[in-house]
Amino acid sequence: MADCTYCGSDLTRYEPVWVEEGHGEDRTPVGGFCNYACLHAHVEAERLVYGTSCAWSPSESR
Ligand SMILES: [Zn+2]
Repeated sequence: MADCTYCGSDLTRYEPVWVEEGHGEDRTPVGGFCNYACLHAHVEAERLVYGTSCAWSPSESR
């Protein structure tokens, strides 16, 4: 039983997108989203930055 982190929809009705955040082995589950639109909206709303382009890649320039 899980709800979309952003909109609260029941994820069992969708094919949810699960996201975790962090770098290398230090990762934290962020939550599930009913689709990429909700994921994107959540990222925008929370001003999260998953790297510079496409998303929660463990590789990051330091
Ligand atoms: Zn949603």
